[in-house]
Amino acid sequence: MQLLKDRIRKDGIVREGGVLKVDSFLNHQMDIELFEEIGKEFRRRFEGEEINKILTIEASGIGIACIVAQYFHVPVVFVKKTKTKNIAGDVYTSRVESYTHGRVYDIIVSKDFLGPEDKVLLIDDFLANGCALLGLIDIVKKSGATLEGAGIVIEKGFQTGGKQIRDMGIRLESLAIVESMDEESGEIVFRDDKV
Ligand code: 5GP
Repeated sequence: MQLLKDRIRKDGIVREGGVLKVDSFLNHQMDIELFEEIGKEFRRRFEGEEINKILTIEASGIGIACIVAQYFHVPVVFVKKTKTKNIAGDVYTSRVESYTHGRVYDIIVSKDFLGPEDKVLLIDDFLANGCALLGLIDIVKKSGATLEGAGIVIEKGFQTGGKQIRDMGIRLESLAIVESMDEESGEIVFRDDKV
């Protein structure tokens, strides 16, 4: 998605350790007009799929998922992160290792809002090692819902998550795939820049 790649090049900041900061437009301050274009692009890519629910993970997935959902006309459910060991009630749970925060947490979603009748599109801002997305995939599996695919705004192609998830046979659509980043020069190379 050219508009997104241009914006990443303009406003993205390359930090040490392969971290890309995009908090001026994506996951702190949010550019809603850009989100609308992201929503339209996911709608176009998943055209014809019978999606009746969007599933994301708090916190930065929620804003994007809400705008995307307006183009699918379906509700958004967000998985909650919790530190509580004893999770009570009727919930599906999984475990996620956070790349950016360097810790492990449990994720939960109520059984009231996800079940075998659902056809789910996963939405998240970043895909790096894939832990967050694998947690969401596990939750979908546990709920008996059908996974129609996953839509990611920025995939870091130099990390392993994208390959792992595509190898599982899951349809993964990433709007911008960063192939490499240079923290000295700030240069960012996208996957399809090379072809
Ligand atoms: P993963 O679980 O795929 O390793 O990482 C996914 C999550 O980590 C995303 O939801 C995002 O919050 C965060 N993340 C991973 N890499 C980056 C990055 O380079 N920049 C930012 N801003 N967040 C990242």
